[in-house]
Amino acid sequence: MSHKRLFIPGPTEVTFENLTALARPQIGHRTAEFSELYGRVVSRLRTLLGSENRVFLFTCSSTGVWEAAIRNCVARRVLCCTQGAFSERWLAVARANGKEADALAVDWGRAVTAEMIDAKLSAGDYDAIAVVHNETSTGVMNRLDEIAEVLRNHPDVMFLVDAVSSMAGVPTPVDALGIDVCLAGLQKAFALPAGLTVASVSARALERARRIEHRGYYFDFLEMLKYDERGMTPSTPAIPQVQALDAQLDRILEEGAGRRFERHARLARIVQDWTRRHFAMFAEEGYESPTLTCVKNTRGISVAALNEALGRQRAQISNGYGKLKEQTFRLAHMGDTQEWEIRGLLAAIDDILGL
Ligand code: PLP
Repeated sequence: MSHKRLFIPGPTEVTFENLTALARPQIGHRTAEFSELYGRVVSRLRTLLGSENRVFLFTCSSTGVWEAAIRNCVARRVLCCTQGAFSERWLAVARANGKEADALAVDWGRAVTAEMIDAKLSAGDYDAIAVVHNETSTGVMNRLDEIAEVLRNHPDVMFLVDAVSSMAGVPTPVDALGIDVCLAGLQKAFALPAGLTVASVSARALERARRIEHRGYYFDFLEMLKYDERGMTPSTPAIPQVQALDAQLDRILEEGAGRRFERHARLARIVQDWTRRHFAMFAEEGYESPTLTCVKNTRGISVAALNEALGRQRAQISNGYGKLKEQTFRLAHMGDTQEWEIRGLLAAIDDILGL
């Protein structure tokens, strides 16, 4: 089957170099060689995140680390900010783990603001808040800096952040923002295949975990910590993924994190301008995501037919998520995507739709 170049918001296109890194000879995960690799990866992730916190490598997709954050950091009650499919699912995960979980719900397409959070936390007795930085189903990015500011008024509340479709594409300065758990799977802006999730975990979060029973085993932060001290993971990690992450971090640092973030911002502007010219933005103004654009289908085109036509040119975009199917479509501009690729995609869509 011929490959279609991915412009979907995950998994994103993986470069040939990174695919090759997945095929390196395997090494044992209880060897000095692995610990060296682990140490190199973790220390560069800390630099990328501007954090002195521990960074753990979980062999699972992001959903697993949603569960980990809830099990380790929520003693009583968590406030889950919901604004789309993924944030709603994190709430469901909290409840499935037997925690008391309330929603701070806004309409799909809108952002959760610091004022809303402040009001809700002041009225309730919460020990954690869960925020999805960049809601992939709607293309809305929340302002973590403003949220972090109001969280200073609530010092006992753990700040849990899903940066799944923002980390490595947008600055996520963990320590400056006081984030306790910041997680991201690698198949979005890291532009690697799915299967590994990285998460920074603060000393405060580890302290909280010590006081919580029944954290489970696979996702227990304290178990992760014990092995982290030896440069290892508690169980066999996805070693090829760690090798590919090592190779990709070389490339991210070679480009420069700042330049990588600027590239994402530039591509977002190109796609947003095109969207405003031909359709409309689904995201609330001022909160448009730099990593993907959710286009409101104001022309009533068949998104499925558009994707089929793009498929014949070996490209793929994403239909709207869940209830937004055919009402919206999503164009991802994250990872290693370059300007010429995005301009080529938009030109192909123009051509197909006669715009
Ligand atoms: N959080 C966000 C923002 C996502 O976009 C996704 C998936 O696209 C997830 C969490 C869940 O990730 P996974 O399906 O890899 O577990």
